[in-house]
Amino acid sequence: MPSTTAPAAPVVDGAPAPRTLAEAAALTRSPAFAGNTGGRFGDHGGAILPPPLVEPMAEVAAAYEEARHDEEFFAEYSRLLREVVGRPSPITSADRLSDQLGGARILLKREDLNHTGAHKINHTIGEALLAKRMGKRTLIAETGAGQHGVALATAAALVGLECEIHMGAVDVAKQRPNVVRMRLLGAKVVAVETGQATLKEAVDSAFDVYAADPERYLFAIGSVVGPAPFPDMVRDFQSVVGRESRAQHLAAHGRLPGAVIACVGGGSNAIGAFAAYLEDEEVRLIGVEPGGQGDEPGRHAATMTFGRPGMLHGMETLVLQDEDGEPGEVHSIASGLDYPGVGPQHVHLRELGRVEYAREGDEAVLDAFRLLSRTEGIIPALESAHALAHAIRIAPTLGRETHLLVNLSGRGDKDIDYVAEQIGMTGEADAFVR
Ligand SMILES: *Cc1c(COP(=O)(O)O)cnc(C)c1O
Repeated sequence: MPSTTAPAAPVVDGAPAPRTLAEAAALTRSPAFAGNTGGRFGDHGGAILPPPLVEPMAEVAAAYEEARHDEEFFAEYSRLLREVVGRPSPITSADRLSDQLGGARILLKREDLNHTGAHKINHTIGEALLAKRMGKRTLIAETGAGQHGVALATAAALVGLECEIHMGAVDVAKQRPNVVRMRLLGAKVVAVETGQATLKEAVDSAFDVYAADPERYLFAIGSVVGPAPFPDMVRDFQSVVGRESRAQHLAAHGRLPGAVIACVGGGSNAIGAFAAYLEDEEVRLIGVEPGGQGDEPGRHAATMTFGRPGMLHGMETLVLQDEDGEPGEVHSIASGLDYPGVGPQHVHLRELGRVEYAREGDEAVLDAFRLLSRTEGIIPALESAHALAHAIRIAPTLGRETHLLVNLSGRGDKDIDYVAEQIGMTGEADAFVR
């Protein structure tokens, strides 16, 4: 194979380089999943859809199943990750931070260095390539704070597709820079003014447009959530993160990290970071949810802790619910973690005893955000700062030989105004010469 089409991702030690997404994903799948079909993870997952969408979603699943085994598809996906996203992303050893804390050494997988500044581009490019392969004209999705919308609009421009992003009118007003970004990238932004005019209404609106013309659109889901095949497909696209980090850590240290730690909203960066390690029982895998401002309903978005079995967005999973069984109010300092559900595979991974879930609150997250900025010169996304806060919490209890690999899912440029306001930092100078 000419070097220009070689896969971007290093591989598990000793194994031949994967030629397809299926081969790459097989490196990352625990035998515990061998029996699963139709996107089911134990009692969770599935595809619970209104009748008009059953057939279109089955077509997406069939197209994905084909694409997974297609060498050209994987070569093109890998090429774009390399040439556009800038993969592989490095691992940075956070030595000044680790020295200050004492205890375990903290390492950072730098998804913040990706083009567009976060991990989301890893799967939106995959979704865009699948849409193109299926002969679709338009990628459609909802977005809350605009992160998924920007990543999708970028991927659409890259592969030459139209993009339509539905957004609550309240969010459009709040997220002006991302709205402008999406429009500059050529996407059509639709402001949804019905109901509360936020994310929930945007989901319904995008879904209605999709259901009316599934021939034209691919509904591109932004995490490992929604109906099958999305939890599998988005995981497989994101699994490049863990494949890389596993090979990088092995090459640099001759062994695996003691733990991999990632924040969990819907769960895509976490499952991508974990997948390659599922069979390495000596590696602890820790998902960190937004503990927000407290344990009362509405003050957090800790679905793994407080969710109850339910149905949301076409899947069976844990859902934060109010007394009437409706999806409950959520809060997090990080808008990307504000989701009342969670990817069904996470629920299953905890049942299998393979992944632990913790939570970190807004205050610890702000502290982690500031500490990393000062000690390492890296301003993390508030989402990623949840994982970091947990590493900071446990590092002092462990020995220096233990490596805690934190998935730094994104950069914090988007968060600086909000953080400055939270901590009372003004845009004034510190000193004046007059
Ligand atoms: C969107 C986002 C998340 C949360 O999404 P997951 O699917 O849980 O990964 C985390 N970090 C960043 C930087 C994000 O933009």
